[in-house]
Amino acid sequence: MNLIKYTSLLLSVFVLSMSGYAQEEQAEEKQEGHTNQNKFRQLYDEFATPNVYRTASGAPGHQYYQNTADYVMDITLDDENTRLYGEETITYTNNSPDALEYLWVMLDQNIRAKDSPAKERNSSEFAPVTPAGNFVNSHMKADFDGGFNIKKVHRNGEAIPYTINYTMMRVDLAEPLMPGESFDFSIEWDYLINNHTINGGRSGYEYFEEDDNRAYVIAQFFPRMAVYNDKEGWQNYQFWGSGEFALPFGNYDVKITVPEDHILDATGKLQNRDQVFSKVMLDRFEKAKTSYDEPVVIVTEEEAIANEKMNATKTKTWEFKANMVRDFGFATSRKFIWDMMAVKVGDKDVMAVSLYPKEGNPLWEDWSTRAVASTLETYSNFTFQYPYHKAISVHARSQGMEYPMICWNYGRPDENGFISDRVKFGMMSVIIHEVGHNFFPMIVNSDERQWGWMDEGLNTFMQYLSEQEFAKKYPEILQGNNQVYEKYPSRRGEPSKIVNYMKGNQDFISPIMTNPEQVYQLGNNAYGKPATALNILRETVMGEELFDYSFKKFAQRWMFKHPTPEDFFRTMEDASAVELDWYWRGWFYTTDYVDIGIEDVKNYFITSNPTVEGKALLARYGIDDPANDPRTKDAVYLLTADSESFEASMKEGDPLENAPKLREYLMDNFTQQEIDEMKHPKHIYEITFNKPGGLVMPIIIEFHYADDTSEIIEYPVQVWRKNDSEVKKAIFSEKEIVKMIVDPKEETADIDTSNNVWPRENKASEFDAFKEGK
Ligand SMILES: [Zn+2]
Repeated sequence: MNLIKYTSLLLSVFVLSMSGYAQEEQAEEKQEGHTNQNKFRQLYDEFATPNVYRTASGAPGHQYYQNTADYVMDITLDDENTRLYGEETITYTNNSPDALEYLWVMLDQNIRAKDSPAKERNSSEFAPVTPAGNFVNSHMKADFDGGFNIKKVHRNGEAIPYTINYTMMRVDLAEPLMPGESFDFSIEWDYLINNHTINGGRSGYEYFEEDDNRAYVIAQFFPRMAVYNDKEGWQNYQFWGSGEFALPFGNYDVKITVPEDHILDATGKLQNRDQVFSKVMLDRFEKAKTSYDEPVVIVTEEEAIANEKMNATKTKTWEFKANMVRDFGFATSRKFIWDMMAVKVGDKDVMAVSLYPKEGNPLWEDWSTRAVASTLETYSNFTFQYPYHKAISVHARSQGMEYPMICWNYGRPDENGFISDRVKFGMMSVIIHEVGHNFFPMIVNSDERQWGWMDEGLNTFMQYLSEQEFAKKYPEILQGNNQVYEKYPSRRGEPSKIVNYMKGNQDFISPIMTNPEQVYQLGNNAYGKPATALNILRETVMGEELFDYSFKKFAQRWMFKHPTPEDFFRTMEDASAVELDWYWRGWFYTTDYVDIGIEDVKNYFITSNPTVEGKALLARYGIDDPANDPRTKDAVYLLTADSESFEASMKEGDPLENAPKLREYLMDNFTQQEIDEMKHPKHIYEITFNKPGGLVMPIIIEFHYADDTSEIIEYPVQVWRKNDSEVKKAIFSEKEIVKMIVDPKEETADIDTSNNVWPRENKASEFDAFKEGK
């Protein structure tokens, strides 16, 4: 038998009387000290100290501020030469308590400048065998020169000095911009638009050879103000391609001039609909405003095909105004089909909109706008009422990218018109995801340059919930080409889907709390793992009610503001009274994984007679005659079937019959009624749980009993607080346990389930030993 386990049990019975002896024994050995590495310790070292801007509760502080940038812009598209021209006037308002000596403006397009260092930031090498396509792509393509041509930076015509450092431009001020003051200045610029299907990027055009047309999805297209705040000062971390954007809120007034036959939509409210819409389009638009069940087509496929053949030389100017947005994007093409549908969000009507070339049909006319509408509903339920008047989904090949009120999405039938399940669900998922980004980070405006997971992770988590809701609303989408899906096949969010990543090679895994440029696997790191972590937090750790309240609280506290990770972590605790430092530490600050197993199970029996092992143990503490020693004469002894003192009869009958002293003790100290009300355990087990994984998690265990019943018990995560590698649980059961399963519903992303079951499957000897009660 295992004497150590036996000892610890006995000691716990005699812990008070024996404590003096035990301490003496320990004092003999000299020990090293250590600092606190407990997984439950508070995150004081990792978190910034709360202050007047951000409170310890995770809410904006009483002196919270944010600066704003308002833009008036005149944009012209030269379709023939694929060049974009712009003149903009920025009004920057300093709401910070600091005097600003200069302003930083972001020039994101410079990532595509001929000499951009981003092109050389990865190591490159030759492989002995290379597909021709890869060889051409990597080594033979002409350098595209798509950087900004900054023609003028001025104030009312007077030049302002500036310095460009790659994707950042410092605008030097003659006088510091004092707290409460605004500064307006203008920039004239142009750049060569990239073909995003060839040169990559989140913005650009796709060229359609068949009809010699382009579809433009244009963003990061104008010099944009950087964020200045209490957290980073100026956020002027360069744009290297992976870390997205940090942008202040502001109001936009934008005129966009494009060929007359283009269909265009953008961030903001269209100001001159009467001038850019035909009479027919206006009539259809009026109809769409009250069509809540199905999209109304504003520009039909036939009309779009007719437009494709035009080649207008005249232009048309579309005017938009947007308030409280952090960015501006637009899409324009003569290929676009356009449809819209109204959706009730809270007490408000919002327009769900789609723009797509005929190449997207019939997928797009069927599902895009419906997905937009459903997403707005679900996200609004979990966060806040969507505050803008519309949300647009634009079809662009291989794109999945978000801007306020507008986003680009992939998903197109193949040349034969075939729509695979992968393409269909991929298209729906990317629309749900990108429309969802309106909430995170367009409104809950986190710093994407620094923390990719704050928008991607929160948004992918919400995407998972929205996908499931979408399939409930439209169950027909579950009909695949060759199968019927039980529920929406979400790619991310289910705990089982993250296991392969979390158990992967640690050399290529980063903690979630890592800047996106240094992350190894951005998709898993910034999307999959945080989304799953939040899902597990909701379903398994906090419960839906506490989680949903706290998550909504975070969204509402930081709506139209700039939250940091700590603001999120703190709010989730603050609003729920669920201690979560251990969870944030494990899941967000480390690459530890979940692996909890059952190491051992002992079946115990009870007797009043001093056992051989019991006597030996007690002798060490000077008790030589336990049956008569006053400290132990009432003692009860627990033993396993392989104890020297074990007798076969102990397996039979009520344990109390085997331990007359326990019965006597009961009779002497309790009334018969009290005894009747007590539990009368018939089976005594001691389970040893081990934890090969670094993450602490609640232990969820399913007991199967001999009478074919089962139940799930959850031990709180705190069970690991004093021993991170192993915990024991003493079980007194009325029923005989025949099987135990840890994490039976696979809800914790446990990476190795082979140790989750007892008796171990496929291990006959252990099973037999267990059955024998050993
Ligand atoms: Zn995203």
